Amino acid sequence: MMKIITLGDECLRRSAEPVVKIDGVLNQRIQDMFAVMYAKNGIGLAAPQVGDSRRLFVIDTREEKGKLSLINPKIVSYSSAEVEMEEGCLSVPGIYGPVSRSSVVTVEYLDEQGSERILKARDLLARVILHEYDHLEGTLFIDLLKPEYLEKITRELSEAHLQKDPGVLE
Ligand code: ZN
Repeated sequence: MMKIITLGDECLRRSAEPVVKIDGVLNQRIQDMFAVMYAKNGIGLAAPQVGDSRRLFVIDTREEKGKLSLINPKIVSYSSAEVEMEEGCLSVPGIYGPVSRSSVVTVEYLDEQGSERILKARDLLARVILHEYDHLEGTLFIDLLKPEYLEKITRELSEAHLQKDPGVLE
């Protein structure tokens, strides 16, 4: 099974490259990503989190129409209304914090057949799309936390990681 990379791996900080070929190999990768995501009880997983720096992510919010794979997604509109909700990330294990995001978002993407799709998502699905999209830009949810949370989390992270890897917080 593919491995989820965690904070400190530079692949998480890169801007991902567009997917150029949608074929059986890519579809197998998508199935593998779903499998890893379910194994970790996640609701979203972006390719950079498994060390693949391409613009692709999978989602399953466990809602109706909540299971999706998005290839080369592009956010075309954000609602100005935002909501704050606690987030976590499989690549930042054990850390949670409140993040403010648009409550409605419209995204264009290619599906597993290479067909163009457009989706207007709200609430949890919108949040997961925005969280996963950020991974394609090298952004993590901890970058979006308010300073007081960031301070607390930086302390927790240094306690958790310092002995293993002193360079992790650079
Ligand atoms: Zn994440």
